[in-house]
This record gives sequence, C-alpha cells and structure tokens, in this order.
Amino acid sequence: MKILIKGATIITMESPEAIIPNGVIAVAGPRIVYVGKESALPGDFQPEKIIDGTNMAALPGFVNCHTHAAMTLFRGFADDLPLMLWLEEKIWPLEAGLKKEDIYWGTLLGCVEMIRSGTTTFADMYFHMGQAARAVEKAGLRASLSRGMIGTAPGVGAGELPPLEYSVEFAKKWHGAVGGRITVMLGPHAPYTCPPDFLRRVIEIAREFGLGIHIHLAETAGEVDDMKRRYGKTPIQLMDELGLFALPVLAAHCVHLEERDIEILAAKKVGIAHNPQSNLKLASGIAPVARLLAAGAVVGLGTDGAASNNNLDMIEEMRTAALVQKAATGDPQALPAFTALQMATVNGARALGLGGEIGLLKPGYRADIILVNLHKPHLYPRHDPLAHLVYAAQGADVETVLVDGRVLMENRKLLTVDEEEVLNRAEECAQRLVKCPK
Ligand SMILES: [Zn+2]
Repeated sequence: MKILIKGATIITMESPEAIIPNGVIAVAGPRIVYVGKESALPGDFQPEKIIDGTNMAALPGFVNCHTHAAMTLFRGFADDLPLMLWLEEKIWPLEAGLKKEDIYWGTLLGCVEMIRSGTTTFADMYFHMGQAARAVEKAGLRASLSRGMIGTAPGVGAGELPPLEYSVEFAKKWHGAVGGRITVMLGPHAPYTCPPDFLRRVIEIAREFGLGIHIHLAETAGEVDDMKRRYGKTPIQLMDELGLFALPVLAAHCVHLEERDIEILAAKKVGIAHNPQSNLKLASGIAPVARLLAAGAVVGLGTDGAASNNNLDMIEEMRTAALVQKAATGDPQALPAFTALQMATVNGARALGLGGEIGLLKPGYRADIILVNLHKPHLYPRHDPLAHLVYAAQGADVETVLVDGRVLMENRKLLTVDEEEVLNRAEECAQRLVKCPK
C-alpha cells in the first residue's frame, strides 16, 4: 500500500528546527520513502491513499518504554495505598487469579487506549505473554514483550513451563514475528526478586538466544538499602558486576542513583525507562533525569501499568516528566519540550534496541506515524508546535495512527479492533477477578 500524508506540519524529530510546514510524507509498504515539500516528491510516487494532514502535526508514534498492559484490568481498583500494602493485599491476590483470556482482553484494552493516545510501540512485562502477543498482533501495534520472572518464587501454574523455559519458547515463537512488529526480551522482574544465581542463568540464556533484558532497577530507596545490606552494592553496581550491562538492557525506573550508578548507566548505554507518574503516585521518588541526560544516558519514557498511573497516555507522561524535572532541579531548562519529545520517540526507540528503525520521520524508517489535530481551542494560537505537544495537547487530540504503513486509526475511528467488544470483555474479566480472585 502506498500512502501520501499531505498538508501536515511535519515534526521529524531529527532536531528542534527540523519542522516542515505544509509538508508531505510518502509511505510505501511498511516504510517511509520521502519526507519534505510536495514540490520535491518524486514524480513516480503514485499513492493509493491520501491522508489529509491539514491542521495536523505529523510526528513519529510514541514509544511507551515500560508498561504492564493487562494491568488496565486493575485500573482504579486500589489507589492511594503504601506500595507493599497495595501489592500484597490488593494486586498480588488479583494477579494470582489471572487467566489467559484476562491477559488477552486486558492487553487489548491497553492497546486500544495506546492507539487512541498516539503510542505505536510499547515495552510490556507480564504473564501469559503468548496472549499479549496475540493482542498486539490483532491491534497492529509494535511491541517488545517480556515474560516477567520472579527468581525467588517462580509461580508456575498447572500445565505451564517454568518462567525461563517459557521465555525461551515464547522468544522462539514471537521474536521478530508479524513482520518484525513483535520482539522479545527476557524479563527478570528486579534484583530483589531475582537473586544473582538466577540472573546469571538469565544472562547465559539471553546470550545464547541473542535477546535483550527488561528489568526494574532502583525503583525505591528501600530496594537500594536492601541490596546494599545484602550485597554491599547498589542495584546498578550489582547488575554491572554480574555482567548484565554487557547485553542490551531496558531498565525501568532508575530513581535512586548514586553518581557512580549514573556513570555506569551512561557508559554501558543502558536503556532507561523513566516513569514519572508511577514514581509520583507510589511515592517512589523523582529520578535524576536531567543528570542522566547530561551524562549521556539513553532515557526513554514509560507509563508503567495502569494500576499505578492510572492511564497509558504518553502526552501526559511527557508533560509530567518535563514539569517534575524543572521543579526538582529549580531549573526551567532542565528538561525542555523537545527533549521530552525525544524521550517519547527517538530515545525510547534506542532504549528498546529499535534505534534506526523507528522514532524519526525519515526515509528508510518504519512508517509509525501519528497525526495530532491542532485545530482545537487549547492549541491556538500556534506559536510553537513542540511546546503545544508537550505542554498543551491531550492524548485525545491524536487523530490518525499508522504502524508499519498500516492505518490503525483514522479520524479517531479504530480500524483493527471492535472497541465496544474490547471494553465489554475487559470489564467482564475485571469484575470476575474482583469478585472471585482465584
Ligand atoms: Zn513496572
């Protein structure tokens, strides 16, 4: 399919200045073949479909670097609680009752929400990931999927493989599947649930199968204290010593960091998923993002699960990330709008090991493109589209979404899923879980 997007304000994300007013984007199959003025569009490009981008900003789709999509089922079920009480009394009992179909419908609900707010790629860690993969395939999104593994108490249901074996089988089936839209990482949950011996096995298997690793690191001050007590090291230094960072790693949170941790994360090019709203809501703290960026670290942005956010809206997440860094550092320039957008697009792509494929509007890149409707009262006048996207826009302003050159939503109509069915089925799953967790 050849598609031409016309008349949009194109934000390529190559630099703050790389904005093309009234430009065109030509898409052939899954890739972008031209971005620029219509006058220079190659004459032999014959589009089968034209998308009118008048009054729209066109930009790369957002990359949500860390979520647990099926946790949409727990949205608004238990809020305003201390972390351990929240987990032990509310979330874990419900998770123990999760069935495969819950994961399918919960993930699909997350996919619908993400498409509607402009996310085209997400990194997910949860259980029954075969079901999550089916949901991603159906929705048409791009995703990096990991089966969350607890090394200390591998909860294996009847007829299920232990988590590491499951992960290997899952990777064999899905890594690079559906035209490369799905990739797989190994998902050891965190250093406090995965002791060094378990992590050594994970590293071995990741090497053997050429997979990256998705892990939670240094989320709370309590975790850092615990690791120092047990191993005499911070979680980052412990992971470095184990050799984890010799592999491609996506590290969620990285909130509580020492100077040496920041140096390691930057030097080893660890992909960091910053989740400001979850960190605020669970009172985990504020990650030193400005310092990480200054050190040259790769920092993307994520929402975390909908039980601790409570939505998957990356525009909100960009705004929160920018505002929190300004307040935390006392410097209004600590995280400017363009940097927030980079975190939500091109840097997120790098954090997921997809740099060079997605995150920019550039010929040769995958056609993961969103159109944001600027013809809204809260987006007039139009002095600066970058500032608008970060400080004034809403997820609901996203009008049209393409992934791999396929239109997933056009003029806010979803084309790959029956939205009513998803809402109803997800609601049924959630109600059953709440009434009878197991
Ligand atoms: Zn998480």
